[in-house]
Amino acid sequence: MTFDCQYFKSQFPLFSQAENKHLIYLDNAATTQKPQSVIDAITQFYLTQNGNAERASHRLARKATEMVEQVRQQAAAFMGTTDSQEVVFTSGATEGLNIIAHGLAGHCTEGDEIVVSHQEHHANLLPWQRLAKQQQCRLIPLPDSNGQPDLEQWYQVVNERTRVIALSAASNVLGVTTNLSIIAQIKERFPQVIVVLDASQIACHMPLQAQQWQCDFMVCSAHKFYGPTGVGLLYGRSSYLAEMPPLHVGGEMVETVTFSDSRFVRGAKRFEAGTSSLSAIAGLGACFDFWQLQDRKLMQQYEQTLTYYLYQQLSELCQQYPLLKLVSTSKNNIGLATLIVDNSFTQKQAPSIHLADMALWLDEHDIAVRVGNHCAQPLWQSLANHYGSDKGLRISLTAYNSYDDIDRLCHSIEHFLQTSQLESPVASSIVTDHKTDDLSTLDIQDLYDAKSWQQRFKILRRWGQCLSLKPEIRIDQYQVKGCEAEVWIKPIQQQNRFYFLIDTDANVIKGLSALLLLWFNGKTSTQIDKVDVDKACRQLGLQKHLTPSRMNGFNALLTKIKTYVDVAVNS
Ligand code: PMP
Repeated sequence: MTFDCQYFKSQFPLFSQAENKHLIYLDNAATTQKPQSVIDAITQFYLTQNGNAERASHRLARKATEMVEQVRQQAAAFMGTTDSQEVVFTSGATEGLNIIAHGLAGHCTEGDEIVVSHQEHHANLLPWQRLAKQQQCRLIPLPDSNGQPDLEQWYQVVNERTRVIALSAASNVLGVTTNLSIIAQIKERFPQVIVVLDASQIACHMPLQAQQWQCDFMVCSAHKFYGPTGVGLLYGRSSYLAEMPPLHVGGEMVETVTFSDSRFVRGAKRFEAGTSSLSAIAGLGACFDFWQLQDRKLMQQYEQTLTYYLYQQLSELCQQYPLLKLVSTSKNNIGLATLIVDNSFTQKQAPSIHLADMALWLDEHDIAVRVGNHCAQPLWQSLANHYGSDKGLRISLTAYNSYDDIDRLCHSIEHFLQTSQLESPVASSIVTDHKTDDLSTLDIQDLYDAKSWQQRFKILRRWGQCLSLKPEIRIDQYQVKGCEAEVWIKPIQQQNRFYFLIDTDANVIKGLSALLLLWFNGKTSTQIDKVDVDKACRQLGLQKHLTPSRMNGFNALLTKIKTYVDVAVNS
């Protein structure tokens, strides 16, 4: 029997909407799409069941309460425990990890050690950093090679002073699974060690086995395994949950409250103060039903072969274009690959290639991937030693992806590289003395005269290459928030004229910056006010043809310029 990817995908209605018919969604590590049954269950909850759980004896409240407890039972099975009181509903993995770190303060005293790996998502690092500071503990890194933590080397760092080991079952940058059978070895030698497992990235790709793995805590977010956003799961060994102080206090988690004191209930509800996201829990129930219908073994096999195919195709691309490098490997991988660009391989005179440009290009071709550090900065700091890059382009698969998706992705990347390498040499002079870019050879009329959007887009990309690198303005003060690509702008006023220095790695944003500079550089505030940007954008078809992420970058720059001029004029 083979896995029917097409049928599986047909259960996810996002893909059959007109605007998404050609979408190739490869950002599943960030969030997955939702099956129709999950969407229906959320609507159905509001149509037929909406009452506040635990709070009243009327029919609707009873129904909601029963629903929550039934989903808790399903959640226990999904997490791999027999006791539903060991499963807490959270808002997601981040909240779960914060609840755990807060609750374990009593277990950690001065001089104790908390072991965390370099690969952790910030959600599984920051709570431990805070706990370590509060309790004067030491944060110890797990040994790793090439950024990949090596749990086999645990004995080098675990000792009598170790209180907690917090690690992910798979990194959201590398995708390689951790050998969880080692937890039992650690617990055997050091039973006092509390093992916290971040299962966020594996939950969609393999069955969770909290009790079998012998971890003490485990967290995940429903939105990463076809469930709704706003709900997550925390598994906690009952002996810890019984005595841990809750992070949030308030309604419904108390046994008794007097004016000056309160006693909390035992069990999962102790950690669920206030009203939970009940519609999301209803959706999660439907999500567990959906999982029940899947042949997980078959699905896992399919994902594995798809992952090997992805790596095979990407490796071929990397061989053909040596500036592309894979920082992750296919063995024991949950379907995630991360690429970086090494511009030292770029031919002399050819323009540098930037990942942000590549991601925008892919978006333009209806392929969703993710560029950045993926909330794992310490991992990138270790990877930078080997690869010299502090961000990557991540491709993350799941069972609704196909071999065709991978072919289209690789074809688009190749097309992007070919197009970029054909472009004329970059004006790579570095501006160090705050001189503005010389754009005197650019004629704005060329842009209006372009016969097609393709031609206009080409002009913008060519203009982008006229902007020089300005490392000295790449500081927080000048960074423009709200752009997917990193962009910096430094305004300068000389007498009544305004000048702007702009820098970014994304070539099309550079082109759009050149357009802004042609409009505004060296102008007075009255001249700047007179430019009808909306009309020009309409005439040039920018809104229609540029992706929202590119328009966001453009608009954020425009707002910065206008605000600066307004403030300068009115002060
Ligand atoms: N841990 C890992 C490994 C993750 O990938 C993520 C989400 N990217 C989180 C934790 C945090 O999940 P959430 O934002 O749903 O709380």
